Amino acid sequence: MSKKYRIGILGATGTVGQRFIQLLENHPQFEITALAASDRSTGKPFAEACAWKLAGAMPENVKNITVVPIAPPLDCEIVFSSLPSSVARETEEAFARAGYAVISNSSSYRMDADVPLLIPEINHEHLGLIEIQQQKRGYGKGFIVTNPNCAVVSFAPPLAALHRRFGVESVIVTTLQAISGAGYPGVPSLDITDNVVPYIAGEEPKVETEAQKILGKFKDGAIENADFTVSAQCFRVHVIDGHSASVRVNLKETTTLEDVIEAIQSFPTLNLYSSPPKFMDFCDEPSRPQPRLDRDAGNGMTITVGRLFPDNVFDYRFVSLSHNTVRGAAGSAILNAELLIDKGII
Ligand code: NAP
Repeated sequence: MSKKYRIGILGATGTVGQRFIQLLENHPQFEITALAASDRSTGKPFAEACAWKLAGAMPENVKNITVVPIAPPLDCEIVFSSLPSSVARETEEAFARAGYAVISNSSSYRMDADVPLLIPEINHEHLGLIEIQQQKRGYGKGFIVTNPNCAVVSFAPPLAALHRRFGVESVIVTTLQAISGAGYPGVPSLDITDNVVPYIAGEEPKVETEAQKILGKFKDGAIENADFTVSAQCFRVHVIDGHSASVRVNLKETTTLEDVIEAIQSFPTLNLYSSPPKFMDFCDEPSRPQPRLDRDAGNGMTITVGRLFPDNVFDYRFVSLSHNTVRGAAGSAILNAELLIDKGII
């Protein structure tokens, strides 16, 4: 049997931490050996520390692991971090410096020039930054890679397909983000029931900047960001899982609707364990994508794109959707780890 890599999860009791545990339960390359969280949880068996909120029972393999503080040393080789950004920066740095491969969901390092912001199907060549990061920061064999904001993941893939083929000039995006995106307990029920909240703290600047880095070119040891502009409005909506994005886009080249659809449909998936059969699924039913019907496509790893038409003001418009705690968080981080192993970096 091939080697299983030992995994530690920071923020293991939280919304994303629980999704990691669920997705890793039968993973052929990884085994969970360490779980870390706040003072509230440390010293307790995971089964006692964690209020399990996902469908199905808490996996047996984690129940008796004692939760430890979020500091090295941790009994693992790879650290998946799902900590609030208030503590992530200092903690992830400490783990990288101590020699761990740190794969982070938090926003702390996403826009740092020497840190890859990965969607493996789009920009795996950005992994070239790791060596530069290790030299610049004196990390030794440790390093940090990040995955994007969960709302950005819902529209960056179709944008990548259009940018690669026709060049993207400008984008207007309105995101409709699920409640689970705010963690647990998240938005109070009296604020979100029967309501749409037109504000998510700190979200719009992330949605307006991360896609340009993701679609940037790795050149002469640095990322040259894509040169389009994004204008974003972010809403919290009464949906449990699944972020939708309503997008209008201007392209640099004139093209046809058929070619736009073909660019999305033909964008390749990868051949890693967590890769879905289709990276993006184009759906031409008039009322799709919908969170409840489409968020679990490809085990939550496929981005569903629909409502794609020429637009009266911009060139094209579409709606895209992804599962925020799977493709937008834990699933993406696991895919990043599989990519790092595949490329011989771990
Ligand atoms: P969450 O449900 O609030 O969970 C937070 C986790 O961090 C818990 O395990 C908590 O432990 C731990 N924690 C909190 N404060 C801590 C401290 N001071 N020291 C040590 N541990 C601490 O949040 P979440 O939704 O999982 O989000 C985690 C991170 O992922 C955030 O940076 C978020 O922005 C990012 N993210 C979330 C999503 C999503 O859809 N939810 C998507 C993408 C990225 P205790 O249980 O012990 O308090």
